[in-house]
Amino acid sequence: MTNKNLKQTMKKEWQNVRKKFYYPQLPQPQLVEKIKGGGSFNFENLETTVEEPYVKSFRGKGIAATDEESDTIVLNECLTHELTHYMKHPGSVFNILRLQKAGQGIADAETISRLRRDYTEAQTNLDLIVAQNHPGTISIARELNQRGAYPGSLSKFQGRILELNLLDKRENLLVN
Ligand SMILES: [Zn+2]
Repeated sequence: MTNKNLKQTMKKEWQNVRKKFYYPQLPQPQLVEKIKGGGSFNFENLETTVEEPYVKSFRGKGIAATDEESDTIVLNECLTHELTHYMKHPGSVFNILRLQKAGQGIADAETISRLRRDYTEAQTNLDLIVAQNHPGTISIARELNQRGAYPGSLSKFQGRILELNLLDKRENLLVN
């Protein structure tokens, strides 16, 4: 698939993914060349970014029979993941700040930021697997896990969630 075709596929999958969430009004996602972590959602300008080398890196990795199908599934999964961040986990800037505040006094700000990101990452991936039954998430997560390039890897989910239960307890104390 050429980059032009990849852009076209992204446009199509963007509409498919928006449909699942009842068409949130957001700017067109951007396909970029950099390699950082796959995709991202910017809560300041509401823009979704997908890294083109990330999409291509799954070709021939058992995600689908052909490169074209693999690109389509990976693009759809990535856009669904980023829109789930926007819609649910964390869902808002307010929720980011609330989670950050919930951890105050338990760890330093940097550690809380890391835990908060891992927490929303675990919530988002579990949402895709359990609630949305996305056909690509498990095989993509397995591949990322094998690369060791996935901070919220499935093997770490349990530990991260347990760590974050501490934050939940602290939050309950604050509320009560
Ligand atoms: Zn994410």
